[in-house]
Amino acid sequence: MTQRAAVYPGSFDPITLGHVDLVRRGLSLFDEIVVAVAINSAKHTLFSLDERVELIRRTFADEPRVRVTGFEGLLVDYLQQNGIGTLLRGLRAISDFDYEFQISQMNRALCPEVDTVFLMTGSQYFYLSSSVIKEVARFGGDVSAWVPEPVQAALAGKFGN
Ligand code: ADP
Repeated sequence: MTQRAAVYPGSFDPITLGHVDLVRRGLSLFDEIVVAVAINSAKHTLFSLDERVELIRRTFADEPRVRVTGFEGLLVDYLQQNGIGTLLRGLRAISDFDYEFQISQMNRALCPEVDTVFLMTGSQYFYLSSSVIKEVARFGGDVSAWVPEPVQAALAGKFGN
């Protein structure tokens, strides 16, 4: 049987339960999900690439069908090098749509074989973003309902609370 894989790219600074929900939904459609953590020197991140990758690995430690990797450069090149033709992205409120539409059109123009599959998280995560989590954690707010346990500890470590 052919194995179907999808690449789920993003910043994951840090991974939230919205991302986790999306990966778990993706696993019911694909045999393997490759979480590809973007190395973006232009974008300042709270967590280093290694920290972001490690937090995702620990979150999915019990899930052998999830692979985590860093990537730099064009996503379509990464897909071609790895023989994967499908991207997985999440849609939240309508605000995501315009940007995601542009990116997926561009990826298709660069590489016509690439398709993007969009999934929605559970409604409790519609308004959840890594940025909001960082804001709340910075001021000592409780984020335990929104992030995996290793992330909660890492945020407390970063902000000293
Ligand atoms: P990027 O910088 O590429 O947007 P993110 O880590 O913010 O990276 O997001 C990665 C992907 O996960 C995007 O497709 C984004 O729309 C999706 N995503 C993030 N949070 C959620 C959420 N709460 N529900 C659904 N999708 C989400």
